[in-house]
Amino acid sequence: MTPAEPTEPALAARARAVLCDTYARVPVTLVAGEGSWVTTDDGTRLLDCVGGIAVNVLGHAHPAWVAAITRQAARLGHTSNLYYTSPQVDLAERLVQSAFPSRVFFSNSGAEANETAIKVARKWGQRHRGGAHTIVTFAGAFHGRTLATLAATGSARYGDPFRPLPQGFRQVARGDPGQLAAAVDDEAVAVLVEPIQGEGGVALIGDDELRELRRLCDERDCLLLLDEVQSGMGRTGRMWAHQWAGIVPDVMTVAKGLAGGMPIGATLVGPRADVLEPGDHGSTFGGNPLACAAALAVLETLASERLIERADQVGEQLKEELLSLAAAGLPIAEIRGRGLMLGVGLTRPIAAETARAALAEGLLVNPIGDRTLRLVPPLILTEAEATLAASLVGRALATAAAGTGPTRG
Ligand SMILES: *Cc1c(COP(=O)(O)O)cnc(C)c1O
Repeated sequence: MTPAEPTEPALAARARAVLCDTYARVPVTLVAGEGSWVTTDDGTRLLDCVGGIAVNVLGHAHPAWVAAITRQAARLGHTSNLYYTSPQVDLAERLVQSAFPSRVFFSNSGAEANETAIKVARKWGQRHRGGAHTIVTFAGAFHGRTLATLAATGSARYGDPFRPLPQGFRQVARGDPGQLAAAVDDEAVAVLVEPIQGEGGVALIGDDELRELRRLCDERDCLLLLDEVQSGMGRTGRMWAHQWAGIVPDVMTVAKGLAGGMPIGATLVGPRADVLEPGDHGSTFGGNPLACAAALAVLETLASERLIERADQVGEQLKEELLSLAAAGLPIAEIRGRGLMLGVGLTRPIAAETARAALAEGLLVNPIGDRTLRLVPPLILTEAEATLAASLVGRALATAAAGTGPTRG
């Protein structure tokens, strides 16, 4: 079947008039979702292997999630952080139990969670390292779109239009221990890293590499800041991706999947880094009861439905099935990632064409650059849905490779 170029939805013209033009949107309007499926405005059902980019860990309209939000909205939807609310404290307790001894600052997004981590590192540097403030990051990183997190991200494409960016960030190549060791010098206060680079093409930082980073940070008296905004919440088959390496960071940031689709960010600050005091930081919405109730429902459902184990098993199955496409001659170089955070590395620059062909086949996947397809589906994805996803990727790749689909470049 030759995928037709999807026609632009009627909503697109209205969107162009009133929405800032910041997203290269796929020409499709989504109106509903259930489980791992979404429905378009013309009634087409699509298997959702994007999941709001690793956000919809319980899929769409999960009854436990809907009930938690509805209950909390009817009770107390929002109040100020001037007052205590129990969902926020309950959630912090659960997060700390799932991770490492720490205290939590709640915000509303991944960028804000990282911004908080950066502020913690800066203050810690003033207090403990004589004002050292350089934060070392890695090429291919993505830490967010605020000015400081853009500086941390270090990508010219994202950052250059907005110069000057905040100072105090230094980026090193990946897989170059010499350059890294040189970068973590007297001026350095912290290393910030994603255990699996998400936007960077689903690139796994090896367990040995993470352990080496921990060792280096200890040796140089620096903080290790882990950005688990995308890799966390059970997606890799462990609650937190760094737990595969058996290390403990000083600070960890969480967002995307935490509340399963409600906006939230969290920064876990370990005892060594715990320098925040009253007045240092704040957020109007951060940790609001509605978002926290949703996050509690996500954590409870991860446990009750054993979704972390499922992510490991179904992810392994999906990986095998995608690899078998390569064996069948499709242009796949490798499958990267872990659990249900997978990147299909292509041997040809046809990621966008493949994603378009997949849409026509009834599958949402996300192209990164021109040689990676990212699959970050809900953790409730069934074995049968994983098999379907792999076969639809195969059909889409065959179409794109044959050039029968819309081509470009
Ligand atoms: C998405 C993402 C961010 C930014 O999160 P926002 O909620 O979009 O601000 C930061 N770090 C990583 C690793 C991400 O994947």
